[in-house]
Parts: sequence; C-alpha cells; structure tokens
Amino acid sequence: MLNQENVKLGKVRSSIRELFEYGKKRKAEIGEENVFDFSLGNPNVPAPEEVKTALADIIAHTDPIALHGYTSATGAYEVRKVISDYINSRFDAGLDPDCIYMTCGAAASLTITLNALVNTGDEVIVFAPYFPEYKVFSSHAGAKLIAVESLDGTFQIDFGKLEAALSSKTKAVIINSPNNPSGVVYTKAAVEKLCRLLKEYSLKYGNPIYLISDEPYRELVYDGAEVPFIMNYYEESIVCYSYSKSLSLAGERIGYIAVNAKMPDSAEVYAGICGAGRALGFVCAPSLFQRLIQRVYDKTSDISIYKANRDLLCSALTEYGFTVVKPDGAFYLFVKAPKGDGAAFAGRAKKYELLLVDGKDFGCAGYVRISFCVATEMIKKSLSAFKALAESYNL
Ligand code: PLP
Repeated sequence: MLNQENVKLGKVRSSIRELFEYGKKRKAEIGEENVFDFSLGNPNVPAPEEVKTALADIIAHTDPIALHGYTSATGAYEVRKVISDYINSRFDAGLDPDCIYMTCGAAASLTITLNALVNTGDEVIVFAPYFPEYKVFSSHAGAKLIAVESLDGTFQIDFGKLEAALSSKTKAVIINSPNNPSGVVYTKAAVEKLCRLLKEYSLKYGNPIYLISDEPYRELVYDGAEVPFIMNYYEESIVCYSYSKSLSLAGERIGYIAVNAKMPDSAEVYAGICGAGRALGFVCAPSLFQRLIQRVYDKTSDISIYKANRDLLCSALTEYGFTVVKPDGAFYLFVKAPKGDGAAFAGRAKKYELLLVDGKDFGCAGYVRISFCVATEMIKKSLSAFKALAESYNL
C-alpha cells in the first residue's frame, strides 16, 4: 500500500492553484483581457539587469564542468562566505559561512529546518493568516501545527492568544514578516515582546523554543518600513531566506538557511540541518544560481511597481467601501469579506471576473487575498469590476 497521506496530498490541488487553473480556462473562453487574475504570488517585475549580465558572464567564463558539477552539499563555500559577510554588514550578526546552508528557495529552507528541529508529537506555532504550506511542511516533519489568531484590524501578534498556545510541546514558532497574505510587517516592539515571551517559556519548560523567520519578502517593503533582524533579538533563531521574490527568480529555486551563531547549540542545529537536507535530498542547491547569487546578493528587483499597485488598489477599494489593512510589505492585500464569509465573497467576485483567494486557506476565514504582483494596467481595468462588486453588497 502506498503512503496514503502523500497520495492524498498529491491529488488535492491547493485552492490557489485551482483558481489559477480556472482563470486559464476562463481566459480561453472570454479573452485574456477580460479576466482579472489576482490568484498567484508570481513576481511580475523582471529580475534586475545585473542578473542577466552576470548569468551571461558566468556561462561564458566559467569552466563548464565546474559550473554544472556538484558543489558542497551545503553550497559552495565562496557563496556562503559572500552571504554571511553581507548579512554581517547589514545586521552585525557575527555569522560565518558554516552558519549558511544553500537551498532551493524558502520552501526547501522551511522543510529542512522543520525536519532538523522536530520530533514526532512536537508542536509548531504559526500566526494566522499564514502561508498554507506551513501545515504540509510541519506535519510531514511530524509536528502538529498550532495556528494562533492575530489581532483583528492590524494582524500584529495577539500575545494573549500566543501565551495560551505555548506548551511544553512547542518546539518552534514560525514568523513571516512581511507577511503572505496580509502584507503586515511586525513592529520592533512586537518582535521584542515575542522574543521575551519565548525566552520566558523556554526557561519555564526547560527546552529551547526555536524561532524560525520565513523571509522571502524581507526586501519588499514600502515607505521605509523596517523589518527587525531576528538574530539580533533572539539566540535560538533561524532565518529561512529566498531570492524568489527579491530577485524575481521564483522558478530558479535558490535561497538559504542561516543559523544564528549566538545560539548555544548552533553547531548541533547546523548539523541537524545538514542531516535533514541530506535525508530529504536537498543537497547542493542549483550550482549556476549559487554562483549568480555570489555576484548579485545585494540587488533587488524594481519594487516601485508593487508599491504603485498597492497604492492604487488600497485607495480604490477603500473608496468603494471595502475594509483593507494597507500592507507595509510583500505584494498581497487582505480584504475583509463584507458579510464575513470569505468563500462567498470570492465566489461572488468570480461573477465579476475577479479571481480572489478565500482567506480560509490562510487560516483566516472572513477575508480574501489579492496578489498585486500583476500588471498595473490590469488593476486599472479591474477597478470597475471591484466597484460593481462593492455595489452588489450595498457598501
Ligand atoms: N514562504 C512564504 C510566506 C511564501 O509566500 C512563499 C512563496 O510564495 C514561500 C515561503 C516559498 O517560497 P520559495 O519560492 O522561495 O520556495
């Protein structure tokens, strides 16, 4: 008998993908320009020019055998050195190359980290709304996912609810700031309070509670919002980073895990990460893209387009009577469903050819997610549909 859990997982498409597929079908029926697809978080801003020139240069001037061959399982030393030096220069983190493990993006960073930390029966806390794959990754690692609601209206951490969820079984807490799907960035005060609390509960239970910071959107922030660097606040912390969004390289699968050097058992944790990477087959991240990162580690795609899209959508939707939390980062807008039912709202939006994702998938029924990493022209064209949708609710 096959592993039925995996068979089931493989058969059910995520509802985001489901909606995307529906969008493709609908575009074929009524024309591409008449469907307003806000379903996927696929960057629509091209990678910086430096990516193209660096790739061409690397391909032209590197020995092809070395270029396409294996690197170390953990990633090429020179690449890990550039990354640790860069993190140190930005955040004074005191990392060395042996704190860095190169991965195929944040998804791999997270699965490896969770498999390294978790024993069967442990609990992993996340804050709703959360990236739906956290559930898949945690349960595959043997942990139970505990979702803690955030504060209504701001999506900052609800510390009362967090305290109620912490237990002797809590192995890790995952934070994702800037957040998918709310776009919220945790304030410095919230991060400080979170870290104080986790320290207190680690002492209380006599086991470290690890803090995992999932950071594919770190560089995507607007109006000068600052994302506190978690290692400067909490010793038992691990950063799961990705270049998917910051460099618009989502399909190339490149990112890293950084283990806090100040963690008392950092060498053990790093060994666990190497072991989990090995067991999962996540060794030697794509060699060409490791070398690319060595050259463009400090570059970011032009995010002014995302900011323009955010401003356009936020002001129009607010004007039409919808309730939104203006995102400080990422490229998502979480919109309150007018009658409190996200599924019904997303269903009604479809009648106006607006493809919005039901918030239930993010552990937050009563909302829908709009991905605004789309052409500004499409947003402009979609506004009359949003207006009609609002009118249908008498907003
Ligand atoms: N974490 C969050 C919050 C995400 O939104 C995503 C992708 O959308 C990922 C992780 C996975 O990113 P990657 O493409 O780097 O695997």
